[in-house]
Order: sequence, then structure tokens, then C-alpha cells
Amino acid sequence: MGELATHGAAYNVVGRSRAELERFVSGLGVPKYRARQIMAWVYNRGVTEFSAMTDLPAASRELLAERASIGAAEVVARRRSRDGTVKLLLRFPDGAGVECVAMVYAGERSTCVSTQVGCRFGCAFCASGQGGFTRDLTVAEMVEQVLRLGDTRRLVLMGTGEPLDNYTASLGLLRFMASPDGPRLSYRRMTVSTCGLIPGIDRLAQEEIPVTLAVSLHAANDEVRDRLMPVNRRYPLRALLAAADRYAEATGRRVTYEWALIAGVNDGPEQARELAGIMRGRLSHVNLINLNPVEGYAFQPAHPARAAAFRRILEGLGVTVTTRRPLGRDVDAACGQLRRRSPAPHRR
Ligand code: SAH
Repeated sequence: MGELATHGAAYNVVGRSRAELERFVSGLGVPKYRARQIMAWVYNRGVTEFSAMTDLPAASRELLAERASIGAAEVVARRRSRDGTVKLLLRFPDGAGVECVAMVYAGERSTCVSTQVGCRFGCAFCASGQGGFTRDLTVAEMVEQVLRLGDTRRLVLMGTGEPLDNYTASLGLLRFMASPDGPRLSYRRMTVSTCGLIPGIDRLAQEEIPVTLAVSLHAANDEVRDRLMPVNRRYPLRALLAAADRYAEATGRRVTYEWALIAGVNDGPEQARELAGIMRGRLSHVNLINLNPVEGYAFQPAHPARAAAFRRILEGLGVTVTTRRPLGRDVDAACGQLRRRSPAPHRR
């Protein structure tokens, strides 16, 4: 993908509905059916230059290249991990820096999108909240992350920010991704991860879209969860689990509970048993990950033997468990390592 030739007044076509794009091209004197072709090039074939849209007349291509852009961000940095994970740092015209990641997980390419610049929720182990909150991202800015990474087979809203705190735009992204004019990704291939915003979970349950809900749990009692995740004081465990149950009930989808194992904090056998107790009878699945270390925090990953023992206890008690590999750690692209960046030209 080439760098974008964007200039101030250019109309960004990314993330526009078909109707919006039709209005725009009509305004240029281009027949409105061309909008559909442009969208097919961008979302089905990953083309980022109007000049490559060979079924458009040359004159239209030139006019579009002059008046419109495909995306608004600059790719400031691209890092590739030894395991193939790719992390991009994008800079939007207002200077906001956003990271997004593509990884091959379980044999499939997953795209991990940020929903906000920074984060308000300040989980004690996560880098995303370290720099505070700057602003919400728009649907177009999220779609652009997807496009820049290319070839999305799964979409996870697990980058920087809290998707349910930017509800309307996050939902707009999901709908756009599924739409016949967009990338046509099935809702079943999308996951929304939340730190536990109950009103957002209930709202999402009513949308009638079968996306997977992932709840960042990390603790099986309020005492530990209060310490790790300040949001727990507002939406405590019992109420959160009830909301997740309502979600499972409404959508028929199994809820994923995420648990990052932190040495001496939530990696002991008694906590595994407590977690198993919570999962009993729930349409659920526990996704374990060993903590990815974050600069500036004292928390350490669990010892591998303790992590393995934790998993065995859960399995022994009938819990469905998967273990997530820490992809992209060497380029700080792993879970919890994405942050709000102020892109400086010569970082690292
Ligand atoms: N705000 C949403 C989306 C972020 S998703 C949420 O909290 O779910 C990022 C996932 O990575 C969450 O499950 C989060 O709890 C987890 N995470 C955060 N920091 C981590 C770290 N240092 N190591 C492993 N996982 C981490």
C-alpha cells in the first residue's frame, strides 16, 4: 500500500455509506453507479489509489484523485514481529496517533482495531490507559485501520480504548464491516471486548447482530477486580456477569471471559477454583493469556508452571479454556501493549 496523497480539502471516501458516496460522485459529474465500483475496489480488493481502478474512465480517475482521498491517515511506523504480527502506527490529520495490529491467530488473520485515542478506564496492567484519554475514533478512522492492515478475516475490537465507551462509532464499524457494500465480513467473525460496561453490553444485546462478546474479567472476586480494574467499582462482578448472561441469552452466543495471568495476583489455584465456580452453568469460555509486560508497571507474567496448573484446574472442573499465545510481544503489539502514541519521527 502506498502513502496517501491527501490534501486538506480532499473528500475521504473511507467509511462512507453507498448513498453518501453516490452524492459525492454525482456532485463531481460522475455517474452515481460508479460509487459501487469504488467501494468494491476499496473494500473487496484493498486498492488505495484511484489510478488502480481500471474499470473507471481515465478522466474520472483523475478527477477523483484530485478531489478525494482513500483514507486520511499517514502510516508513521510499521513494525513486524518475528511471529508475523504487524503493528501500524497511524497519524490522523489532528495529530492523533493510533496503533492497530494484524496477527495470524489459530491459522487465521485477525485484525485488531483501536476504538479510541487513549482510554478512560485505567486498568492497572494495561498500557492503553497510561497516557489518559484523548478522543473517540470515528467509524472512518476505524475502517481505515482495517484497510491499512489488509485482508481481514476476523475483526477484534481489542486495540486501544473501550469500544462500548464509543458505542455508536464501534457499532457503526461492525455494521459497515458486514454491509454488502463494505468488506462483507460475517458478524460471527467479529468480537467486541469490554472492560465491563453494563449499559453497553445490554444495548449490544439488542442490536440483533451475532458478534462475540469478550469480557475482560481477570479476577473472580470484587476485591481483586477492584484493584486491577477501577471500572469494577461502578459495575461490580455479580452485575457484570448477569449482563453477560443476558447477552448470551439474547444472542445465543457463548461469552468469552478474558483472564491475563499475573504473578502473585490472580494466578493461584484458589483463584482458578473461584473462576471455575463462576463459570459453572454459564454459556462461556475462558481465554487465558499470560500477562504481557508493560513498561512502568510492576506486574509480571505468571510462571509457566503456575499458568499450566491454573489451566489444568479449570479444565478439571469442566471449564472450556483456550490459551492465547502472546503474539507480537517483541514489537509491543501484544494485548495490553498498545497505547496512545504521539508520533515522533524518530521513535525507537
Ligand atoms: N477496553 C476493552 C478492549 C481492550 S482489549 C477491554 O478492556 O476489553 C485488550 C485485552 O487485553 C483486554 O482483555 C485486556 O484486559 C487485555 N490486556 C490488557 N493489558 C494486558 C496485558 N498487559 N497483558 C495481557 N492482556 C492485557
